Amino acid sequence: MTERIQRIRELEEVSRRLEPDAGERARIRDAVVEYSEDFLRNIDELPAFESDRSGVDALRETPVREEGREIGDLLSVLRGSVDTPGLNPASGGHLAYIPGGGLYPSALGDYLAAVTNRYAGIQFTGPGAVEMENMLLDWMSELVGYPEDAGGNLTSGGSIANLVAVVTAREERGLEPESYGDAVVYVSEQTHHCVDKALRIAGLGESVKRVVPVDDRYRMDPGALEEAVERDRRSGLLPWMVVGSAGTTDVGAVDPLEEIGDVADRHGLWFHVDAAYGGFFVLCDSCRELLSGMNRSDSVVLDPHKGLFLPYGSGAVLVRDRAALRRAHRYRASYMQDVLEAEAGQVESPAELSPELTKHFRGLRLWLPLLLHGVEPFRAALEEKRLLARRFWERARERGFEVGPEPELSVAAVRWVPESGADPDAFNEALVEAVREDGRVFLSSTTLDGRFVIRMAALAFRTHVERVDLALEILCEKARELEESELSAA
Ligand SMILES: *Cc1c(COP(=O)(O)O)cnc(C)c1O
Repeated sequence: MTERIQRIRELEEVSRRLEPDAGERARIRDAVVEYSEDFLRNIDELPAFESDRSGVDALRETPVREEGREIGDLLSVLRGSVDTPGLNPASGGHLAYIPGGGLYPSALGDYLAAVTNRYAGIQFTGPGAVEMENMLLDWMSELVGYPEDAGGNLTSGGSIANLVAVVTAREERGLEPESYGDAVVYVSEQTHHCVDKALRIAGLGESVKRVVPVDDRYRMDPGALEEAVERDRRSGLLPWMVVGSAGTTDVGAVDPLEEIGDVADRHGLWFHVDAAYGGFFVLCDSCRELLSGMNRSDSVVLDPHKGLFLPYGSGAVLVRDRAALRRAHRYRASYMQDVLEAEAGQVESPAELSPELTKHFRGLRLWLPLLLHGVEPFRAALEEKRLLARRFWERARERGFEVGPEPELSVAAVRWVPESGADPDAFNEALVEAVREDGRVFLSSTTLDGRFVIRMAALAFRTHVERVDLALEILCEKARELEESELSAA
């Protein structure tokens, strides 16, 4: 007995190291804050991309071991191994893919969420945390134009949000495994690949996928959609879902959502809208008409870590009929009986509307910046990015670049057709590589109609006009250099 209590005390002495006292907390916190301040002070000068990856090695050279280490040493590993090589997504020079954000108050929200560790899965134990999430989801539902009995879930990102929507749609359309092979989903060539991934995870990998043709601005052709659905019906297949995009990743194309909604209504299809990139542009007066029809959908995905500039780890799925989301995700377990009984008849909990049980308290990282700043600067930032993309597109055209469709949201596609007569695809591949090597801005590429094109996506909140103008200057400069080196090689 005495031996055991003695042992417990010994163990306690060591385990208490997990609870630093106020003085120690201040020491490590100050070191972390100093690190983050140093990062933010220099953010405009730090490269958007660093191709030297040698710093990564220090991580393995600093392994997990029995004894602890000094905070200063760990922060220097972090700087050299993680925060230097590769893409710097916090930089205003991140103009590739769909840029993310990193709002500072979000970091503070995460900090508070982690310190208090509020449980956001079930409303019985975390009524305030769940209510905060529900309030934010209601705000998004209102933006989309959904009715009051819509429901949703804050996810880790757009891919998981699309998966939740696909699973809900599958359940609501009553698809059974025997019929999966006949089930047809309609997408366009521009649909994000995470929808494919979601279909496969949902067991629908063997179902039929129809790629509906797009118009010259890469928008789904609703007439062609309807013909395809009718043809499939006649041949005995089961059309069940159509996926529209509100802002494609490639060029920011917005499908004609109203017309797709009409086709979906006529044929009883589940209408899903992937608005991961473009959805929050609905905050801008200039985009409201463009995005009209989102409210016609049965489910929609938005990514706060894109259009609301949050740090990575924030997606959202909304479903017009909350009950459908519940039917697809609700489970019972005996170890949850007290919790669920206490819940009966009350607000639904995230755990009943999503694949997750225990989860990060994601609401706080969104609530804090949104309420602290108000919506106005978010609206302004989105409109600013849209105008920046148009400016870039117009000026690139004036400077002799071949350009893709005029940007409707904030992505512009361009390419340089070399005067030397060299292969344009290879030339533009070398051009985007040269821009990355330079590092002041980071651009990505894609293939449109079989042609290699360079994309400029303005969505990082730190991207302002100087940086976008700089991106064009760098493109012109590198294109000239490449032309010269090709001429001298010829
Ligand atoms: C980014 C994106 C996704 C995937 O979302 P993640 O948050 O990266 O998982 C899906 N669809 C579109 C249109 C996107 O732009």
